[in-house]
Amino acid sequence: MLKAHLIHLISRLSRIRHTMTDSCIFCKIVSGEAKAEIVHRDAQVTAFRDIHPVAPTHILIVPNRHIESVSALETDDEQLVGHIFTVARKVAHEEGISRGGYRLITNTGIDGGQTVFHLHVHLIGGQRMRHPMG
Ligand code: AMP
Repeated sequence: MLKAHLIHLISRLSRIRHTMTDSCIFCKIVSGEAKAEIVHRDAQVTAFRDIHPVAPTHILIVPNRHIESVSALETDDEQLVGHIFTVARKVAHEEGISRGGYRLITNTGIDGGQTVFHLHVHLIGGQRMRHPMG
């Protein structure tokens, strides 16, 4: 009985966490509450320049809806994930880095190096990069 109650509580809490936006900097950028240099915005995603760029082009593409990470994605989000990549391709073209190539990275969870827990794809380019596997 107590176990069932606890499982129910944990499931409710994780859902609340999934939609919580108050303290999320990327939710604030999406809503306009926090400043960012936005390069693309539509009904589903927003793309803006990273505050600490690691290359001449460093843009983050985020879903407008708060999704914590890849681990929190659901089957219904498949179209959204595809759209993020379509926007990445469009922004890369506008940035003039399509021909040279670019890198798309999504860090997931603490061990994956994620520091902002709102799903995002880094679009990085404008220079030749070392292969991440060495
Ligand atoms: P990650 O470590 O993969 O979660 O990436 C988070 C990224 O968000 C880092 O590259 C940060 O530089 C970037 N970042 C954090 N705060 C802001 C902000 N207010 N505006 C733009 N980029 C940000």
